[in-house]
Amino acid sequence: MNLALFGGTFDPIHHGHMAVARAALADPRFALDHVEFVLADRNPLKSDWPITSFEHRWAMLTLALEGEPRMKANDMERLPPESKLANYTIDTVRQLRKTLAPGDRLYFLAGIDSFLHIRSWKEPERLLRECRFIVVSRAGATLQEAIAVLPPGTPADRVALLDGVNVPVSATRIRQAARAGEPLGPYVAPKVAEYIRRRRVYA
Ligand code: ATP
Repeated sequence: MNLALFGGTFDPIHHGHMAVARAALADPRFALDHVEFVLADRNPLKSDWPITSFEHRWAMLTLALEGEPRMKANDMERLPPESKLANYTIDTVRQLRKTLAPGDRLYFLAGIDSFLHIRSWKEPERLLRECRFIVVSRAGATLQEAIAVLPPGTPADRVALLDGVNVPVSATRIRQAARAGEPLGPYVAPKVAEYIRRRRVYA
């Protein structure tokens, strides 16, 4: 089995995220069986906004993935409410690896903007040994930049570049649009837009 983890805060899950997963699933180089969206409870590198509750983000994620048989929502990074911990990709990848068979191949999907910070993630060299990365294009960064940030000596086969995803949507922009009462249809699935509106997630 070939599996790709797609980690993120998904605050909220949007068309850009879905395009990333679809492009990875369609690429014969990876022969993926499915993509697992791993919802981060607390991202140690993203403490600059009061993050929306895990429950709201989880509800939106599961609504967006309804009817997508090759995309699954994964809540393994959920932390107990009293916990002061954060989620680290290396811990998630190692935990998930234990559930795989020896011949299974594990990938981690990341947008280029996120991957460019890999050297500030926990144990980047070890992470690049534990899984292969699929680094996806995003407006404003070139895929060649991803190669430049690799720790010295990283074997070339640890990182594959996935070009051609060009959906200029960001969760930050969507939260602003929601606060301004703008329509969210251009950015998120109809059920997610409805959830945000009804539950006043970003009001
Ligand atoms: P923000 O705009 O607030 O930074 P985000 O959508 O980038 O939000 P996450 O939900 O944590 O933040 O993103 C999860 C992953 O999806 C990251 O690897 C990010 O690079 C990637 N990603 C998000 N949006 C896009 C997009 N439009 N195109 C390609 N990759 C994306």
